[in-house]
Amino acid sequence: MLQRPNDTAHEDFSEDSLRESRTDSCEGAQAGRTCKPCLMHRRSFLAGSLGLMAGLFCDLPMTASGFGSTALAAEQEKADILADYAARLQYHMENNGDLRLPALSARDRRRAIPNDKRPPARRTPVTKLPPNPSALEGVVRRVHIENGEKVCALTFDMCELATTTTGFDADIVIWLQDNNIPATFFMGGKWMRTHERRVRQILRDPLFEIGNHAWAHGNFALLTPERMREEILDTQSQYELLREENIENAGRSGLGESLPPPEALRLFRFPYGRSSEQALQLLKETGLEPIQWDVVAETGGNNASVSRARQVMAKVQPGSILLFHANLVPRGSFQLLRYVATGLQRKDYRFVTVGELLALGTLERVRDGYFEKPGDNAELDKRFGTEGTGR
Ligand SMILES: [Zn+2]
Repeated sequence: MLQRPNDTAHEDFSEDSLRESRTDSCEGAQAGRTCKPCLMHRRSFLAGSLGLMAGLFCDLPMTASGFGSTALAAEQEKADILADYAARLQYHMENNGDLRLPALSARDRRRAIPNDKRPPARRTPVTKLPPNPSALEGVVRRVHIENGEKVCALTFDMCELATTTTGFDADIVIWLQDNNIPATFFMGGKWMRTHERRVRQILRDPLFEIGNHAWAHGNFALLTPERMREEILDTQSQYELLREENIENAGRSGLGESLPPPEALRLFRFPYGRSSEQALQLLKETGLEPIQWDVVAETGGNNASVSRARQVMAKVQPGSILLFHANLVPRGSFQLLRYVATGLQRKDYRFVTVGELLALGTLERVRDGYFEKPGDNAELDKRFGTEGTGR
């Protein structure tokens, strides 16, 4: 999703607004040490993960009698995902000092990096995922959590049209790192290339998950099947190229060898939330899972307000998927994130990546994506060029 219908996406940020209140909430992190609140967050987070895993294992049957092998395999897969989750969180906590991203810089500002319209250096991804037939049932809006546990996923879109470059909100990522909060970033393939250095920094931290957000933000209600395939596969390829580069350099940095990032992106987010039957068919074939959201965080205007945070929090329920941006397009995303995430933690919510959330319950799908009401994103078909990429 690049912008809401009433967004002021083309309004540039001033240097003052970039500097505005962009300080760590964790004084310990600023001073290079760990503060007590952070330790508490870490402990409660880890305890929550392990408790959740224990609960899952207790639900497993002692024998396969009465359960089909498919059900058992599915339960095992979920157990593996959650065990991997705990290991990745532990790795992050032990190495956060080395993994922490450099601060927001002038090159992170919108349009600071020159545009580059070339496709990726390699256009066919090496890794082929198995087909995902469930994509035909529609996009995932949220996950129904059977036991009602307060768990939700924070997602951040990094969108970029073919015609211009956007930015990178480093403050958001650093704040998540300092507070041990997992998140999922849906990155445009072209955004990945224009922000290669930043993507490679994020790839090193297993606290984060990356999803495919199309190459140049194409509108999948308008694109031809051939162009849809390019938008999806070029992004898969670009991710592979950066991942390979990171692994080649892992020996030098001493990081990333024990927990390399996944070989391929498995989650997909439709730009503007716009989809089509042909697009779902293509996701089935390419093995990707279409992920939407049930809670829209930012609106047009300045989002850095407690009142907006209250509106967002009121919509969150167990299994929610929240939509934010980390490309410096909506105004006040970082402040809004801090208000919302700390508010939800006070209400005993904990955060997981989308991949983990999918393993925790039953997926709730809709045929066509939307912001808050069915059809409320269709008017965007008339904007952003003939295929949604700005061209
Ligand atoms: Zn987007």
